Amino acid sequence: MQKFIDSYDFTGKKAIVRVDFNVPLDEDFNITDDTRIRRAMPTLKKVLEKGGSLIIMSHLGRPKKVDPKFSLKHIVGRVSECLGVPVQFAEDCQKADAQAAALKPGEALLLENLRYYAEEEGKPRGLAEDASDEEKKAAKAAVKESQKAFVKKLASYADCYINDAFGTAHRAHASTALIADYFPEDKMFGYLMEGEITAIENVLKNAKRPLTAIIGGSKVSSKLAVLKNLVGKVDNLIIGGGMGYTFIKAQGGKIGKSLHEDELIPDALAILEEAKAKGVNVSLSVKTVAGQAFENDTPRRIFDTHNIDPEWEGMDAAPESIENWKKIILASKTVLWNGPVGVFELPNFAKGTLAIAEALAEATEKGAYTLVGGGDSVAAVTQMGFAEKVSYVSTGGGAMLEAIEGKELPGIAAIRK
Ligand code: AMP
Repeated sequence: MQKFIDSYDFTGKKAIVRVDFNVPLDEDFNITDDTRIRRAMPTLKKVLEKGGSLIIMSHLGRPKKVDPKFSLKHIVGRVSECLGVPVQFAEDCQKADAQAAALKPGEALLLENLRYYAEEEGKPRGLAEDASDEEKKAAKAAVKESQKAFVKKLASYADCYINDAFGTAHRAHASTALIADYFPEDKMFGYLMEGEITAIENVLKNAKRPLTAIIGGSKVSSKLAVLKNLVGKVDNLIIGGGMGYTFIKAQGGKIGKSLHEDELIPDALAILEEAKAKGVNVSLSVKTVAGQAFENDTPRRIFDTHNIDPEWEGMDAAPESIENWKKIILASKTVLWNGPVGVFELPNFAKGTLAIAEALAEATEKGAYTLVGGGDSVAAVTQMGFAEKVSYVSTGGGAMLEAIEGKELPGIAAIRK
């Protein structure tokens, strides 16, 4: 049964905590952004404050074997600084028995990169490119078999398990899901996970109406499952960014050189049909800022989005589109935003995305619940200085996207079951 970090008695207990310390490092192994480390601190500090000790585990990058480039030893210093206690380091996550056993209340141990072992992800490594299906199947079965001992070893270090790694919650890995079975009465979410789960539920389960989703970004193909799930849930669906042009083309519009996916036109039409049948208001761009080349200083011109000249490419939402969307956003009680409505990386085409961020901030101030999650909209709000002005900015790109697709995330299910 799921327990809660606030009410759990950690006195004299060892907690094994899965965090996401997958931070960016420069060539000299200096951390260039420690946000992920800082976001895990409330959970880690709570365990120590309540008389427990910590065994901290994470992955870093995508090593395919033991590789010093991806060693978590590079970050021990920063973790110690943030936590305010010295952090010991276990050079092999499978050989930390003695160090874990010696931990006293208030002490912390960081395990080496879990992904040095194929068992963490449970995927075979080193298979020959021309391996037969039989060989692939056998290798997969072998790693699944050795994964059991891997999980058991990690679990043996501790009395309770906390998952605070939302960024990997969509993966059924050893440390994110399988280990929970060893702690049927002593498993819980950390604060970061709790925050993300509440945010998802505020939008997908308990939303105050009207509920509006703004879905942008580059491709319909990467957001198809999101759109299919949301069309049955929201009152308003704003579709912008590069993916919007496939919808405009599906309606017979001329979109010039704008990004589009012809093979997805039937899906786009099916989404529009379903929205109509369900009484969902779909709002597409009416005016577009187009460029002649995909670069910041290209000449710009505004077109009707349904009538873009052949040599021009839609790259941002123009003021009339933004005005329409702003009205919808400001009349909403809940707003979910996923994906920029223009090429926001190029300053001359960032105005539409900036205006959406501003509208979300205004709606939040008026009492709406606003969630920015999954994809580049997170980078956009952060970069534009609006992260503190919306209700919640998700930390997990892929995990949030899958949650919005309506999927049950293995990392969440493992704690709750
Ligand atoms: P996604 O990761 O799917 O959320 O897509 C984000 C990317 O979509 C960003 O890099 C944007 O530059 C890009 N994008 C947004 N609008 C457009 C557009 N009109 N044309 C091309 N790319 C776009």
